Amino acid sequence: MKEFFGKEGWLKDFIPGFEFRDDQLRMSEFVLDSVVDLKNCIVEAGTGIGKTLAYLIPVVQYAVANQKKVHISTETKALQKQLVEKDIPIVEGILKKSGCRDFRHSLCLGSSNYPCRRRFEALMSRGRYRAEDSGFMGILKERFDSDLVFTRFDVRVPGRVWGEICRESDACGHQRCFFSRRCPYLLARKEWADSDVLIMNHHLFFTNIASGRSYLPAGDIAVFDEAHSVGEIASSQMGFTAGYFDLLELMRIMTGSSKRRGLADLIPETQKAGQVKKLCGKIITESGKFFEGLRSRLGGESYYTRIRDADGRGTAIVGLVKDLMVILAGVDDLGDAEEHARMEFDIIRGRIFLFQEALGSFVHRTCEGWVYWIERDKNDILGDVVLKGQPVDVSVPMRESVYSSYDSCAFVSATITVEKDFSFFASNLGLDSYRSISIDSTFSFRDQVVLYIDGASALQENPQNTERITGISSEIIKMMNGNCLMLFTSYKMLGETRELLGDMIDHEIYSQDLSSASEAFDMFVNGENSVLMGTQSYWQGIDLPGDLLRSVIMVKLPFAVPNYPPCEARIEMIREAGGNPFLSYQVPEAVIKFRQGFGRLIRSRSDRGIVAVLDSRILHKSYGRVFLKSLPECRVVYTLDDLARAYSALDGVKASL
Ligand code: SF4
Repeated sequence: MKEFFGKEGWLKDFIPGFEFRDDQLRMSEFVLDSVVDLKNCIVEAGTGIGKTLAYLIPVVQYAVANQKKVHISTETKALQKQLVEKDIPIVEGILKKSGCRDFRHSLCLGSSNYPCRRRFEALMSRGRYRAEDSGFMGILKERFDSDLVFTRFDVRVPGRVWGEICRESDACGHQRCFFSRRCPYLLARKEWADSDVLIMNHHLFFTNIASGRSYLPAGDIAVFDEAHSVGEIASSQMGFTAGYFDLLELMRIMTGSSKRRGLADLIPETQKAGQVKKLCGKIITESGKFFEGLRSRLGGESYYTRIRDADGRGTAIVGLVKDLMVILAGVDDLGDAEEHARMEFDIIRGRIFLFQEALGSFVHRTCEGWVYWIERDKNDILGDVVLKGQPVDVSVPMRESVYSSYDSCAFVSATITVEKDFSFFASNLGLDSYRSISIDSTFSFRDQVVLYIDGASALQENPQNTERITGISSEIIKMMNGNCLMLFTSYKMLGETRELLGDMIDHEIYSQDLSSASEAFDMFVNGENSVLMGTQSYWQGIDLPGDLLRSVIMVKLPFAVPNYPPCEARIEMIREAGGNPFLSYQVPEAVIKFRQGFGRLIRSRSDRGIVAVLDSRILHKSYGRVFLKSLPECRVVYTLDDLARAYSALDGVKASL
């Protein structure tokens, strides 16, 4: 590793202005040793040490020399883009210089991001696209004719057009498909099979695991960058979501309507077709009553867990859907039906099967150690109820399906430990034996950031406190001339604060309760001196370097909502095992998120700014110490006057305050 990362190492020929960093060399040696010794490892590496190259170079070099395949999984698209466009080309160049053979890499996306040639050709031949879309169809045709892999991100076509031609996993004929030799998706899979390094996101990694590893070629080494989010994503990807309107739609496509023939009409045996329609009708009637019952349990709440199938209606529907599946599974001849109709029949049959599995699991609680609940679908204005299920504790599936499949796994993030202790992260992910290293950031937080704590905010939420928080926030926003990120833990408080703040400042506010997270983020980036307000997704993974961000205001300590079913089930599980869920789960989880929130501010050595914590529990509760001790050393102030003075005294700050 010294030959790559040392003072006179090869990296200096590939990175303009390369600076030798002992910590980067140390991390690369640690990762290499772990991979060579077939050990799992956890690396906490603060910002600025060059951690991506510090794991990429040793892992790829080892893999290429030993004919191993590497899976690299990240949380965000931004990091995938950085890997593909910036870091991998450096690794290619540097390994070549070292005498290593060339290696191949591929970016792997979820299947609906690839186009389906069969669907495209069917659409073209039937001419069933809008006149205004003919330009987009021309663009797609050119791409298809090139016989090269492309994805939705390579062509600028509207979502509605893409939806008509994207690959549908349950309708894909694979090698049996007439277009298989010229199919971009199958070409992509061939590239994956031939590649040494596959790059993907955590969602795809765990979807692949949940599908019995049927999507991606097997790997030998797994690296999880942005590893702090692995547990949460693993849990949700291994579970299911099944909505009432999804079931209704499937049944209606089967039975048809006054305007449209049903798929059941394709079945040549009229008796079978009649049975299918009859069963679908019964399922519609029974599920209407079943879901109505669930909806009334929900009342005004967002979710509900204590569901019992006391009247046996759930069991009856599972039975009906199973009977339907038995008949549909026996249909192997659709007579003279057209190709696209056969395709649709296969898709809908597959979806009914998946629904039956989810419904059966929900009603009969078939998966031990899972939490099952119902939830109001926030995206559905008609108020659909969805059934949900997922493992409470991912340590078991991680052991059974991940660690047993790879020679070694490396988990890398800037925020993994709680007071330098790895045990919360490790036990959460079922890592029984692992090596670990924690490397501090190279940034000088004392010279770059001032931490303001409001020690007088109320311990319990009340309207006066919201006014107080808004007042302090407005002062900070004015002081820093905008470019402020405000982080909340609830939409309610976000909405109340936004309304009050709008009358107090002259800066534009972009908020996650008025636009989607990505829209609000884009508007903030393109705006000037504005304010970005958000919950969940903004605490981690967003990158606003340089002057784009001058202050971060954390309105509350980021404890998870305790009655959110997966959280509630976890608390229950720890309590039943005799543990203390607050100290062993809720506090450590919130601390890691808090560190993520703090980390949004300083992204480079030249960044300067303010982090404000407006939750006095950090000072007045015993657990507050754990939050404070988990932050890097920086100047802490408790009044706005001191904040102004301390900020103006920061090295390089010339702001007139
Ligand atoms: S192989 Fe699958 S994705 Fe490719 S063209 Fe055929 S059906 Fe579409």
